[in-house]
Amino acid sequence: RAKADGRGTFCFFRDEMAATVEARRILELDLRKALANEEFELFYQPLVNLKSGKISTCEALLRWNHPVRGTVSPVDIIPVAEDMGLIVDLGRWILRRACMECMKWPEGVSVAVNFSPQQFHQRDVLSEIRYALEVSGLPAHRLEIEITESSLLRNTQLTHDILSQLHALGVRISLDDFGTGYSSLSYLHNFPMQKVKIDRSFLEGIDTDRPLTLLRGVARLSADLGMAVVVEGIETNEQLELVSADGTVSEGQGYLFSRPVPAVRIRQLLDASHGRRLGDAQIVSISS
Ligand code: C2E
Ligand code: MG
Ligand code: MG
Ligand code: MG
Repeated sequence: RAKADGRGTFCFFRDEMAATVEARRILELDLRKALANEEFELFYQPLVNLKSGKISTCEALLRWNHPVRGTVSPVDIIPVAEDMGLIVDLGRWILRRACMECMKWPEGVSVAVNFSPQQFHQRDVLSEIRYALEVSGLPAHRLEIEITESSLLRNTQLTHDILSQLHALGVRISLDDFGTGYSSLSYLHNFPMQKVKIDRSFLEGIDTDRPLTLLRGVARLSADLGMAVVVEGIETNEQLELVSADGTVSEGQGYLFSRPVPAVRIRQLLDASHGRRLGDAQIVSISS
């Protein structure tokens, strides 16, 4: 059909492409305005210490309240912002906002901030981080930077130096989405990192058919290498029980504890959890 109707098909694709290019152009224009118009917002999702049941850290997750499109996912924002070179300005805003917010939380609670590869590899990343700590007054040990494996695969010597300097500063580095890439943990361990977040894909089906072996193996290896272990994407009590059973996983994160919520809500959650265990029905209902 495509052959018989070659010209028409070509026109169709050309229109499609033009429409995609146009949509992308509009998205870029909107993104540029969004920062100035204060359309970005940070949601926060708790990481829960599985031994104490208390919130140890809250991860900042970007949301865009688009005037027409409604809430836009970070998955659609970050890659475009990277292409446009907007990620540095956007990332600076995210980091400072997250540090300032953390200052309103109980002292034992840290904030985790996601860094995209480009943001992590900007020339003055160290001074950006130092400055964010300085203007917010947040002690370095309450900041955790989440990077993915792709940030570790370029400029490896430079990356190593940056991580060492961050470590010296007291900032924690957390390896996000571990297990979705192709690197082995023994390679990644060459970099100074304090935490590993095991991707939620490792949880899929473990409460029904998939064996726990893989998750347990990765968790144990990370712990043996001296890193704290987080499992992300815990949605059910069954999963929580399986993950907690052998004591190697130190923290959990997922809808079971709470979905990502606005700043005001996380403050209420932190106040409520002060002195109380998380992981029960109350929290699940707060988060929905
Ligand atoms: P991530 O850093 O791995 O964050 C976890 C994502 O999984 C979040 O999606 C969160 O809402 C979702 N999640 C948490 N618990 C569960 C669960 O139990 N079940 C399921 N199905 N999902 C769960 P979100 O907020 O849409 O963010 C997606 C990704 O976008 C993040 O993955 C991160 O890579 C990126 N991102 C988000 N905010 C930022 C940011 O401020 N800067 C950068 N550079 N990237 C960001
Ligand atoms: Mg993350
Ligand atoms: Mg993650
Ligand atoms: Mg993830």
